[in-house]
Amino acid sequence: MKIIYSDAHQGHAGAMELRRETFVPMAECPERMAAILAALAGAGFDDTLAPDTFGLEEAGRIHDPDFLRFLETAYPMWLERHGPGTTAFARTFGMRGMAQKPRMDNVDAMLSAYTFDIFAPIVAGTWTAIRSALDVALTGASLIQAGAPSVFSLCRPPGHHASGDLAGGYCYLNNAAIAAQNFLDRGASRVAILDIDYHHGNGTQRIFYDRDDVLFVSLHGRPEEEYPFLLGYADETGHGAGEGFNLNLPMPPGTRIDTYMTAMETAAARIAAFAPDVLVLSLGVDTFDGDPVGGFCLQTPDYLRLGQAVAKLGLPTHFVMEGGYSVAALGQNVSNVLTGYLQR
Ligand SMILES: [Zn+2]
Repeated sequence: MKIIYSDAHQGHAGAMELRRETFVPMAECPERMAAILAALAGAGFDDTLAPDTFGLEEAGRIHDPDFLRFLETAYPMWLERHGPGTTAFARTFGMRGMAQKPRMDNVDAMLSAYTFDIFAPIVAGTWTAIRSALDVALTGASLIQAGAPSVFSLCRPPGHHASGDLAGGYCYLNNAAIAAQNFLDRGASRVAILDIDYHHGNGTQRIFYDRDDVLFVSLHGRPEEEYPFLLGYADETGHGAGEGFNLNLPMPPGTRIDTYMTAMETAAARIAAFAPDVLVLSLGVDTFDGDPVGGFCLQTPDYLRLGQAVAKLGLPTHFVMEGGYSVAALGQNVSNVLTGYLQR
């Protein structure tokens, strides 16, 4: 299996996040990628490829043009307004009763309108990293379109919390959604996205919620207890033409592999009934027991079973990296998903 990867994400670093009552280094850090690459090399995945360079056309099929302009210009605008050595953050959000479209000459207004939480900091290297993740995702998609049975796009930053014009939850562009749309634009009739990150893929759900050409299935910590709290419930099944094409399978804190695999079977049955041309797998391993931002109890060997279950679908599979923050275990967990997939 080819691994698509670029070092260009590394400048998206040094941002802090608020956890409980104190600022700590952001869990979504460059060291995650080094850990994954090391484990993959140890497991014999040595076919690593640098991405091709794409423009913003494909991203523009999912994301609002002003939102893309915001992501590109926010940091230089922030520097000009607030001085060097700082991280760009929103201080207000465009909630009910407030303007939903910002003035594009005011970076604070843009941050308020185009981010939905305090987990989308923008530093000097953020835009380069965002562009690189986009290239990594689209290169993976083009390899599958050329006939590869499976590819792993090792994207950073992740994407599944980002919607058409909102960044948040460490996510800026929705890499998996852009890949899914690209498959459709290049001739696929139906694409399924299976999101196994611990957190609900609220961005992906929102993007495809009223469509029947993309089935979105998500296994995640239930929003009664877990981020993003306002989306991810089982009764969100799609809207209009998309009714029945959104399947949320929320699970309680402490969920272990047996319960998880039951949900996987439900997901697999729905995906099989949809009969997609291709599967995009939003691969998060923050379901791991001990992940600093997760709440499930999956163990490292369990990820072999997840990979096997994905393989059982018998579909061309585009793995797109999402979350997973226990740096010590992250690499082996990811490697196990891919190994399990190839074992079948
Ligand atoms: Zn997550």
